[in-house]
Amino acid sequence: TQLALFQAQKMEAVGQLTGGVAHDFNNLLTIIVNNLDLLTRNARDPRDVKLIESAQRAAERGAKLTQQLLAFSRRQPLQPDAHNPNTLIEGFESVLRRACGEMIRLQLSLPQRTRWVSVDAPQFESALLNLIVNARDAMPKGGSIKIMTGNATLGEQEAAASNLPPGQYVSIAVQDTGTGMTPDIVERVFEPFFTTKEIGKGTGLGLSQVYGFVTQSGGAIKIDSTPGQGTKVIMLLPAQESGDEASGEDDETERPARD
Ligand code: ADP
Repeated sequence: TQLALFQAQKMEAVGQLTGGVAHDFNNLLTIIVNNLDLLTRNARDPRDVKLIESAQRAAERGAKLTQQLLAFSRRQPLQPDAHNPNTLIEGFESVLRRACGEMIRLQLSLPQRTRWVSVDAPQFESALLNLIVNARDAMPKGGSIKIMTGNATLGEQEAAASNLPPGQYVSIAVQDTGTGMTPDIVERVFEPFFTTKEIGKGTGLGLSQVYGFVTQSGGAIKIDSTPGQGTKVIMLLPAQESGDEASGEDDETERPARD
């Protein structure tokens, strides 16, 4: 609990710092992008067009990075809606499969009884993609990735360990058979810009985005990792109030089977 609290405070401080920088960068990038747009309209010389386009691509990459930073620092307002996490994952499955490549087997375990969550769908998908990319990168020689959803009830102690109120949660886990991480790496992975990947390959912002998304959604994230065996990243998100008039999705026995 003490550790979780310390970790949360550290992340809060880092978030404050990076959030301010990211916010300013975002404003600057908006000016750059707008001006480049104006320039392309007037450019005649194909060489100029090429230069402008290359600058536009760089600005877009910069915008993506600041987006992840903003997500981490929770400066980016989310638009949460009630979603069945399984449906979100299935809707995004082809993108995830493409990210895995040919060497990796992707399995989905999405039990029907999994409850609904209130999340910003695009941020949820970014988080999932970031987790899949990390899993893939941890398995250069191939392997398998499992995405699993399920319900979890957190009692007082378990909840406190994750710095959450006790209650009903949905767990969304991504498990790989990759290199795994030592505890000293696990401790730092959510820090923005922390990466062990080669320059140009990793930005160190993937798990920062995931962290920001999960905490801003009222949840928590846990990592189980064993060097040489693999890693399981578990996102815990508050389950929607049961009932569930909005979904009718909660009742295992009454819900018709899906094909
Ligand atoms: P990046 O992927 O750009 O390095 P992340 O924040 O997503 O940034 O990840 C930070 C670091 O955490 C990675 O460089 C890697 O060392 C470690 N990591 C994350 N996920 C995994 C995983 N599934 N298996 C092994 N190491 C991982």
